[in-house]
Amino acid sequence: MKVVGLIGGMSWESSLEYYRIMNQLVRERLGGQHSARILMFSVDFHELEEYMRLDGWEEVTSVLIDAARRLEKGGADVVVICTNTMHKGAPEIEKAVGIPLLHIGDATGEEVIERGISVVGLLGTRYTMEQDFMKAHLSSKYGLEVRVPGPESREIVNRVIFDELCLGEIREESRNAFIRIIEEMAAEGAEGIILGCTEIPLLVRQSDVSIPLFDTTAIHSRKAVEWALKDNFLRT
Ligand code: GLU
Repeated sequence: MKVVGLIGGMSWESSLEYYRIMNQLVRERLGGQHSARILMFSVDFHELEEYMRLDGWEEVTSVLIDAARRLEKGGADVVVICTNTMHKGAPEIEKAVGIPLLHIGDATGEEVIERGISVVGLLGTRYTMEQDFMKAHLSSKYGLEVRVPGPESREIVNRVIFDELCLGEIREESRNAFIRIIEEMAAEGAEGIILGCTEIPLLVRQSDVSIPLFDTTAIHSRKAVEWALKDNFLRT
């Protein structure tokens, strides 16, 4: 089994989910006391959140390059960035290390295509919804039509992510607001919704809504486990 290097802490509420899901999957697939070989470098999110707000993306990327290099030095075979937003710097981070990076957009794009969906809604931080890095990745590489909600809904989604979910707060009224936004997007033609922020699955579940949800935390964790097991795992 290969060693998966996680860049975590963005926020640590979702990094815990990566750790839990990856270990569960390895136990399911290999049985007994098997568990995932994981190395994590967890950043101080305060610093990064401030850089993002001030549009300091170069600073963000250099913190993440430092994290990726630490993982490589520590013996990781692959880098997994445990957030959608921070994939804005993914091309630079990938270039800065000699090990591969498992892009969350590839993991998600492949899954959406496999489900036969071509028009998809994207919920995430305002950076992910409003900037091009994730939408363009999904549309140019996977041919998806990616839609985001209107400005008022984007504001709600972004506020709930940073002021509640990243702080470990799960509120019923926020869940209801997300359900309303998802159902509105479904009514406007979205065939599925990408939960494109790794904390959103802590709030909204598949059973809450009427259209398929793509949980990027679970999808990315699963791809990482598949990658780690691909050479020593007898399965077609
Ligand atoms: N975890 C979140 C994401 O998947 C948001 C935190 C961040 O800005 O990285 O985008």
